[in-house]
Amino acid sequence: MPSSPFAMFENAWYIGSFSHIPVKIHWTFLLIVLYVIGTGLSDGATMMEIAIEVAFILTIFVCVVLHEFGHALTAQRFGIKTEDIILLPIGGVARLRNMPEKPMQELIVAVMGPVVNVAIAILLGLLLYSLGRLDQLSPESLEQLSFENWQSFLPLLLMSNVMLVLFNMIPAFPMDGGRVLRALLSMGVGRLKATRIATLIGQAICLVLVGVGLYYGAYTLALIGVFIFFSATQEYRSVALDTALKAKTVRDCYNKDVPALTEFLGLTDAFETIMHHRHSHFPVINLYGQYCGWVSVLQIREGLRRNQDLRIGDVCSRTLLTMHPDTALTTALNTLAGDAEMVLVGENEQVLGTLDRDTIRQFIERVSS
Ligand SMILES: [Zn+2]
Repeated sequence: MPSSPFAMFENAWYIGSFSHIPVKIHWTFLLIVLYVIGTGLSDGATMMEIAIEVAFILTIFVCVVLHEFGHALTAQRFGIKTEDIILLPIGGVARLRNMPEKPMQELIVAVMGPVVNVAIAILLGLLLYSLGRLDQLSPESLEQLSFENWQSFLPLLLMSNVMLVLFNMIPAFPMDGGRVLRALLSMGVGRLKATRIATLIGQAICLVLVGVGLYYGAYTLALIGVFIFFSATQEYRSVALDTALKAKTVRDCYNKDVPALTEFLGLTDAFETIMHHRHSHFPVINLYGQYCGWVSVLQIREGLRRNQDLRIGDVCSRTLLTMHPDTALTTALNTLAGDAEMVLVGENEQVLGTLDRDTIRQFIERVSS
């Protein structure tokens, strides 16, 4: 379904995995490379200069990926899975399934990204030292660095990693610094209050960024300020929603009127039936009327595309969990984040209805609007 806040992440190419975490690159990333080549050509740069600059950008993004792995692998140690790491033109995003709620864990996860860039900068410094080129880092030489030859590559890379650390440690959501600040505050006051304070501080910093950016004509800085400002507001809403959801149970939102489909039903007939319902998942029953699995509209559509003669039993999923209606909604969300896209809701050996991610999502939209 669209309407997901992550819809913008859909057009990303898979490039590889490490420690079960897939790394993807968003197609708009190509625009940066094209932009560099384009401006290089129009400025009359040599092929060599353009090649060095493109190589430089790709290397920076490797550093960004390593930064994101700093977060993701640390989160993994706390038992939190990462959906994927996506590279966007504005930087990287490690999409953690959920954020650690223990302040200490959140602090460590947030800090481990920038720590990676500090480590890279130190390694580059040692490399320059061993090459006897440490003087390239003096303020006078830094001003003369350029992409004319490979000489400037390492010092520029070192400086970029320092910039990455400074930029990410700005204490405003969704920057790592904002998370560090929130975690520190959470240790004193509650998580919700900590988020509110951290958000306010972050927004004040954003206003300064925008002001400075506009005053000095640094429009990228102003734009970043605006972007952080709105992300901070969103983060606060999500925590407030989380707090509100804690009091809700499955009973508040499960579906009571979803028809069960028998596993011998042909997909064409099934399609006729589900068209009259707005649900995305349906329970499947066997010949004896026992629940034996679930099927999604997507599975039925894909099945029909493969072969018109398939039946529900050929495309449905056989893993079926039952959940008590008093289960906390946050727990239900975690369960539904796995392979089970739909669960039965039951009490006293009796099936009351069904629950899937879309139902919860719609419920959340109603609660939060
Ligand atoms: Zn980070």
